[in-house]
Amino acid sequence: MPDELIDIASAREIVLGHVRPLAPERLALADALGRVLAEDVESAENMPPFDSSALDGYVVGDLEGGDLPVVGESRAGAPASAALQARQAMRISTGAAVPAGGVAVVGVERAQAANGRVTVPPTQDGANIRRAGEDVPAGERVLSAGDDLGPAELGALAALGRADVVCGAQPRVAVLTTGDELVEPGGGPLQPGQIRNSNAYALAAQAQRAGARVVAREIVRDDRAHTVETLARALDAADVVIVSGGVSVGPHDHVKPALAELGVEQHFWRVALKPGKPTWFGTRGEKVVFGLPGNPVSAIVTFHLFARPALRRLAGGDAHDTRAQARIDVDYPREPGRDQVLRVRLDARPDGWHVTPTKPQGSHVLTSMLGAGAFATVPRGEGQIAAGSLVDIELLR
Ligand code: AMP
Ligand code: MG
Repeated sequence: MPDELIDIASAREIVLGHVRPLAPERLALADALGRVLAEDVESAENMPPFDSSALDGYVVGDLEGGDLPVVGESRAGAPASAALQARQAMRISTGAAVPAGGVAVVGVERAQAANGRVTVPPTQDGANIRRAGEDVPAGERVLSAGDDLGPAELGALAALGRADVVCGAQPRVAVLTTGDELVEPGGGPLQPGQIRNSNAYALAAQAQRAGARVVAREIVRDDRAHTVETLARALDAADVVIVSGGVSVGPHDHVKPALAELGVEQHFWRVALKPGKPTWFGTRGEKVVFGLPGNPVSAIVTFHLFARPALRRLAGGDAHDTRAQARIDVDYPREPGRDQVLRVRLDARPDGWHVTPTKPQGSHVLTSMLGAGAFATVPRGEGQIAAGSLVDIELLR
């Protein structure tokens, strides 16, 4: 059955069916950026913790206004020691605790102070007072397992008094690039037939962006023994092995037989996708292997569609967090047997997101990725997809 291709959605289901989150670990808050939370977090205390002033001004003991004695001050970090009585005022700064007996705050620009007294207008109960627990009352859920930890989440955890949090582990990734033609950037002028190893850099960066740690990065020669040896080491060192190239059926493609020799079980091979048909996926125990096409665009596309969801799941996060829809701005010819994944510019318009192909879409045109904010899927079929159609997109993060 040489031409039996699996569709994208089924391939992704197979991948996710073979990965589950790695054991979580406890991390200091300052080390948790980019991780996925692995616990539900409730507020142990009210946030904010006490009634406080929203303004610099005067806190008053009744609502009537008039000429009042200023009996003290409440500053941020230095609350007033005495309570406030009716017909009294106290100076108060933004964020400072409202003293016992304080019923409202009048902003400094509405008050006239002189000689230890202040004249304020009548006001309303609770004016300019932020209540304890107004943001989050004690006991309320603030964050949930699976949430991505960005700057706002870390700030909220700090506000809740959390010095450390339980996070999903960072999957360890090995990036192996196969090919006798590959030369590292900086490796001198290209000899006839040589090309630069761009996949090692793009794929490693994608892995890092997906929350993984790259633990190995190696060029594999088009040689059976070297392929087996390098793959064996990668399987020991990493949770996920990404191999680019060498997975087709040419006489110099050693990846599939090498993986079979190492006991890695194939779960799918070849996807109804353009670019990215020759994509291979297998596992050995908990270890996950992706054999991605060598063409630079195909490698990036198939990493995003298949390897990224696996890494997200291993890290404890949402595997589908990049999916959205947009309107395509051009007619585009369909392919009868394969869904196409286009590199598209993403534009926000009053009626929503729109996408346009960046430039010609050959799988070797690496610069078609530049400026691409998303991939857009043109479903297989006859004829063309019409400009204005709604298409599934994958946001590139
Ligand atoms: P392969 O799948 O090994 O037949 O490779 C397909 C195409 O991708 C060939 O033109 C390769 O030269 C190219 N290619 C393979 N690996 C890389 C790489 N690491 N960086 C850039 N291009 C590559
Ligand atoms: Mg090759």
